[in-house]
Amino acid sequence: MRAVVCGAGIAGLALAGCLGRHGWDVVVLERAPRPREQGYMMDYFGPGWDAAEAMGVLPALLAAGYTVDRLSYVDDRGRDRAGLPFARFAHAVDGRLVSVMRPDLERVLREHAEGLAQLRFGRHVVAVRPRPGGAGAVLDDGTVLDADLVVGADGVHSAVRRSAFGPEERYRRWLGLHTAAWVFEDPEALREIGSRFCLTDSLDRAMGFYGLRDGRVAAFAVHRAAGPSLPADPRAALRSVHGSLGWIVPRALAACPAADRLYYDQVVQIEVPRWSTGRVALLGDSGQAVSLLGGQGASLAVAGAWLLAERLARAATVEEALAGWERVWRPVVEEKQRVARDGAPWFLPSTRTRRLTRRLALRLAALPGLDAVVTRGIVGRAGGDIHALAEA
Ligand SMILES: Cc1cc2nc3c(=O)[nH]c(=O)nc-3n(C[C@H](O)[C@H](O)[C@H](O)COP(=O)(O)OP(=O)(O)OC[C@H]3O[C@@H](n4cnc5c(N)ncnc54)[C@H](O)[C@@H]3O)c2cc1C
Repeated sequence: MRAVVCGAGIAGLALAGCLGRHGWDVVVLERAPRPREQGYMMDYFGPGWDAAEAMGVLPALLAAGYTVDRLSYVDDRGRDRAGLPFARFAHAVDGRLVSVMRPDLERVLREHAEGLAQLRFGRHVVAVRPRPGGAGAVLDDGTVLDADLVVGADGVHSAVRRSAFGPEERYRRWLGLHTAAWVFEDPEALREIGSRFCLTDSLDRAMGFYGLRDGRVAAFAVHRAAGPSLPADPRAALRSVHGSLGWIVPRALAACPAADRLYYDQVVQIEVPRWSTGRVALLGDSGQAVSLLGGQGASLAVAGAWLLAERLARAATVEEALAGWERVWRPVVEEKQRVARDGAPWFLPSTRTRRLTRRLALRLAALPGLDAVVTRGIVGRAGGDIHALAEA
């Protein structure tokens, strides 16, 4: 059986390795000319942890990961106003949590897929052509790659989804925010951050920082925006929105790269009534995006990929596998999407009262016994037993 996977991001790479291991002939097409070096820090926990374990990549993931001591909300002078020892957060997910830079997670998944799938960089998919018993992926150079299954793992702005399911606006739920991420060098900032995840304790906009072991600082920014349309000059927009925040923010903004090297996007969830049509399926953010507020998009992408490959290996037909995968996986995804939406006002408070309530909640979360209650509000229920879902 042959699969064409569009996108060598987290979902696409995970699926490529898993399907390759089950004996599929897999081609992965990636728009970027080479593996991305820029990225952001992600907390990795939930169902993706179990999938990483099942795939045998957990040791590599842990080796690439970071141990964060504390989530720290800081004021304009960098003083800790509220926070939570990360151990409490980890405790709520049975210690099965690691912070990892996105390019590192991709590298681990790429290494897993090595020799099991063919990766083609600098090629993008412009459309898909469904046919009975298969589908074709149309590339930017006009070539058509024919397969038994075409998977759109091409992110929230998926070309596969647009071609096979319709325009993005139909499936996009905008959460009212824009976000950005970049990495910069600042030894003094690195010292001040230490092994904390620092977030500005600000209203309607926030910046977050992690120190990296190569001496750089990973920054991300998020703010409420008037509409989903992206600004013509994202760097200028970031400087205008966050410019009056204190501490290391002005230095981070001074180091912010221009649009071609900056990640800047709308914060959205993707809700598609059916994740497949014929032999075309959507995986990861292209069909199930929970957004950064969900804090588990990467984890769900890996787990969803592992599960899809398992169901394809066990079912009599591709159609049966796709239907079974969606039946067991959709409730997990929808619960994470709901939790992310419910948490939005706390993630980025708009009023001082809400910010005070968040500080209080974090204090309560530091108390043994209450940590699980508060963190469950952040992460949702445990992701479900993926091994049971593979057989259900
Ligand atoms: C700031 C930020 C923080 C986050 N924090 C976390 C976190 O803490 N924990 C967590 O689990 N998740 C987090 N996420 C979410 C997580 O990054 C995503 O859910 C995850 O990357 C989804 O993976 P994906 O492979 O589906 O899509 P993507 O990562 O978007 O990958 C899609 C790939 O497809 C390629 N592509 C696009 N179009 C085409 C095309 N037409 N043809 C070929 N290739 C194409 C792209 O270049 C890309 O490589 C965060 C996201 C952001 C933005």
